[in-house]
Amino acid sequence: MTLERAPVAEAGSPIEAVLFDLDDTLYEQAQWLDGAWRAVARMAAPVIEERALLAALRTVAAEGSDRGRIIDRALASLGRGDLAVAPFVEAFRRFRPDVLAPYPGVDACLAALGDAVPLGLITDGDPALQVSKLAALGLAHHFRVVVCSDELGGRATRKPATAPFLAALEQLRVDPARSVYVGDRPDKDVAGALAAGMRAVRVLTGEYRDAPNEPEPWLAVAGVAELTAVLGPLLRNDLA
Ligand SMILES: [Mg+2]
Repeated sequence: MTLERAPVAEAGSPIEAVLFDLDDTLYEQAQWLDGAWRAVARMAAPVIEERALLAALRTVAAEGSDRGRIIDRALASLGRGDLAVAPFVEAFRRFRPDVLAPYPGVDACLAALGDAVPLGLITDGDPALQVSKLAALGLAHHFRVVVCSDELGGRATRKPATAPFLAALEQLRVDPARSVYVGDRPDKDVAGALAAGMRAVRVLTGEYRDAPNEPEPWLAVAGVAELTAVLGPLLRNDLA
């Protein structure tokens, strides 16, 4: 267990709700992304050799998913910058996996925490896609509320904007100070939750697992599965 800071007495009032990020927090986003790249390469097969494009997409994506224009850059790397990118982007957007695997122990942890307090999910990105991922993970039933930040105000209300955090808490009727948010990205999840007045737990999973703790979370844990033990005693309806 890599708990860096123990929950402390200053935590004060019991926790009345636990809210989560989706990608790289409940499951490894690379799993979904690789399926999407395979769908793009399959679609492109008539004009580009499928395996070559798949390899190029994986190589460019490995440079970081935040850099954008991955498909354009992959096509350019194969000397096919002449092709219109729109159909490739469309194949990427249309990709809907039937099944995704959560990180080990996530389902059991959500079941345990959800027995004590209501759970929520706050996620950025295309709402239809995000909801389909949740269904493919088989985790949707755990969440009392699901907030897709894009539905509030488009990109402007993506994390670390406080709007999606406050919207979820309002639906749950829980005060920010009595809630916890769990996510993988310091710059989006931790920063946004702290700005909304919540306690922020960072999970050291996914693409950003080695990013510095800026800002500093309330706690950092190796993964969601640890939260049953770590948060259990602090919940309103104590798991013990
Ligand atoms: Mg994430």
